[in-house]
Amino acid sequence: MKKHTVDQNCGEIESSYFYRERLAHIFRDSFQFIFSPFFLADRGWVFVADRHGYVVACEKAGQPEFDVKPFYPLHPEKMYIQNNVEEDSRTVCVPVLQDVWFPGYIGVVLPACIEERCAFSFLQGMTAVFRLIQEQYISKTISSCIKAVSQNMGLNSAMQTIVRRFAESLYQVECIAVVFDEEQDGMVPHWSSSEQNWLCRETMKMRNLRKIYEQIVSQFSVERNVLRREDIDIQGLLELEELSEADWLISPFDYNDKIIGFLVVLRDKNFPFTDEEQKFIFRFTKALGPSVHNSALYMRVQRDEQKRSMMFEITKKLHSSINVNDVLHAVIENTKKLYPEMQVDLWLSHDSFSTKLPVKPFSFSTGESKSNVSARAFMEARTIIVKSWGKRSVTLAAPLRGKQGVYGVLELYSDKPISLPAREIEYITMLADTAGNAFENAQLYQQSCHLIKELLLIDEMTRQLNKNIKLNDLLTFITRKLTETFRTEHCCIFSWSEEEKAYVACASTGQENVPLVLRIPEAGKLHDLFVKKESILIADTKEIDSLLPSFSCRSLMAVPLMGKGQVEGAIFLIDSQPNRYTFDDFKRLEMLARHVKVAVTNASLHAEVERMVITDNLTGLYNRKYLYDCIRHSQQRDICGSLILIDVDYFKNINDTYGHQIGDEILIQVAEVLVASIRTSDVAARWGGEEMAVYLPAVQEDIAHQVAERLRMNTMSSTRPAVTISCGVATWLKENGIPSVERLFQQADEALYRAKHSGRNQVCLAGKV
Ligand code: GH3
Ligand code: MG
Ligand code: MG
Repeated sequence: MKKHTVDQNCGEIESSYFYRERLAHIFRDSFQFIFSPFFLADRGWVFVADRHGYVVACEKAGQPEFDVKPFYPLHPEKMYIQNNVEEDSRTVCVPVLQDVWFPGYIGVVLPACIEERCAFSFLQGMTAVFRLIQEQYISKTISSCIKAVSQNMGLNSAMQTIVRRFAESLYQVECIAVVFDEEQDGMVPHWSSSEQNWLCRETMKMRNLRKIYEQIVSQFSVERNVLRREDIDIQGLLELEELSEADWLISPFDYNDKIIGFLVVLRDKNFPFTDEEQKFIFRFTKALGPSVHNSALYMRVQRDEQKRSMMFEITKKLHSSINVNDVLHAVIENTKKLYPEMQVDLWLSHDSFSTKLPVKPFSFSTGESKSNVSARAFMEARTIIVKSWGKRSVTLAAPLRGKQGVYGVLELYSDKPISLPAREIEYITMLADTAGNAFENAQLYQQSCHLIKELLLIDEMTRQLNKNIKLNDLLTFITRKLTETFRTEHCCIFSWSEEEKAYVACASTGQENVPLVLRIPEAGKLHDLFVKKESILIADTKEIDSLLPSFSCRSLMAVPLMGKGQVEGAIFLIDSQPNRYTFDDFKRLEMLARHVKVAVTNASLHAEVERMVITDNLTGLYNRKYLYDCIRHSQQRDICGSLILIDVDYFKNINDTYGHQIGDEILIQVAEVLVASIRTSDVAARWGGEEMAVYLPAVQEDIAHQVAERLRMNTMSSTRPAVTISCGVATWLKENGIPSVERLFQQADEALYRAKHSGRNQVCLAGKV
């Protein structure tokens, strides 16, 4: 409030100066009307004086040779008549003090020849006009205010206009307008004409304003138009010390017999409000009630509109994009716009979305913390509001609900006591649900993307298998695919090695030259993996001793490959960035590991079957078919080659003497002798029964002869019971034309026949007949 001067006289002069101005203004605005052709003399003056007798304005008619005095010592009850003999004039003045907005006197100065009676009756008529004009002035003041208010639609600017205009129309008043917003339920905006901003005053408590409002309304209901100082203890309500120094009035704004707000007018106690002023205040507020109502309505409509368009924006985003970041961003930004006085936070339970958003992680701790409200909203899947009156703070937590669950919480917080009506809460809840739906959609989309990727991977693995892929190629393929699928740096597959008694990397995307060997430690994560058969997910290996020394590893996932209840191996995914994998990734890897295991097992079995197809069961030598293939292959590649056909001598006797079992053992012994006596490039095969064959690629007859001799000698010396063999050797030379494999066999067989007939235990050459 403006400080008034302590000197009362000085204040009095200031105050009367203010009203004199008004009076002068009213007179000047209307003198033409007062000064009608009905003026009762050909020359003279009409003047207006204030209630102290000071002339504030005057107008002359004709060319009077007499003048108006600046001051008349007036008496409030009596008419003033003064005869100025030397000027030959007469002054007549009548009071207009009752039932008028600005009390004063109206007077005339006329030639002395005009009778007093005439002057008096003229002034009587003037008084009525003067009252009317004052009335008009007040109406104009009010209507121009209404007009100004109607020009700016917002409640804020309308109320600012009202308080400013009102403060201008009374002497040194300060006013505060309060509008009660029913919908906002006690959210009471208020405006002040004072330079000191009432809005910022900590002492202005919304809660109290509501109480004041209720008291004031109840006061008005007992048939009072305007509340005065003696009616209500406003000071105690508003907790303003300055009010003890003030005289004040409260007048209601109403609409349809309902009080929608009020105007508090304050002035220094030394200048109590007059009855006229009180009437004026009442009239002013009464007239402006509908305007205030309209502005408040407009504000509500505007707010609704803003919300609707915002919801539309978000819904549009939701439907046009499966990008959850976009939607959440829109939710946060628009919420901030709508509730600028509140702090907006988002809490997410999910970790798989971008961190560009101001997202906070949940902490499910107990206690009265702010995050606890959100945790509760999350778990109970409903909007929760906590008002802490002690701290005058409000926390609203709305869960982001989808159809299948809750994904996070939208939290609004204010350290000022803001009241959130049901409508607002409903709206925020709706916003949060929209975000929750968006979240769910995005998640479902991402899940389906992952699912498709997984299916493609499994499909590709199966196809690779059907291509008779070699095990090593398959493992390389799997490591490459897994790094692609999880967008990670490295993948490593370990398998148990009996020789090393450790897990050895059988495929790896990095460090190919370093043979990776993992020995099972006594304890720790690797122990859990290989012994307890537990998958491991480590968000940041910084805290753990480096598990894989040759990788720069911060994030790690490892899943065991199980076979017959044993950990046969493990898949490792490795990244140099921490927190690289989500829990979903982990679950997916576990699932994929089962497929990998099947693929690896299949590939191993496949290799085994292939080996079995070309191998003789009893001796472990290659079979006849494989030998044929080898010879054909050699004939395309080499310039010569030799085939040695071998037959055990008198084998029937061995069987007869020692039994078939020993006979079989002899065959195995002979086979071992053969394999031990030839080079790895040579091929030893079982031809059938007790007949065997050795093929020597790129070997000519003489060398083949030597080899056959060596076989014969070694067999004789190394078998128990000792047996002998007969050999037939056939050689082909490219220069002589390549024979068919059947023909080569036939030649070798003929040579063998000769060896048998020449006494057995000898070598015969096909070429040397
Ligand atoms: P030789 O070749 O010196 O003329 O006399 P031989 O006794 O070896 O004569 P033959 O070729 O007629 O007999 C081969 C015998 O080998 C007949 C069969 O009982 C025996 N035999 C064939 N395959 C196997 C086998 O897989 N295991 C055993 N124990 N005996 C076999
Ligand atoms: Mg035989
Ligand atoms: Mg034989």
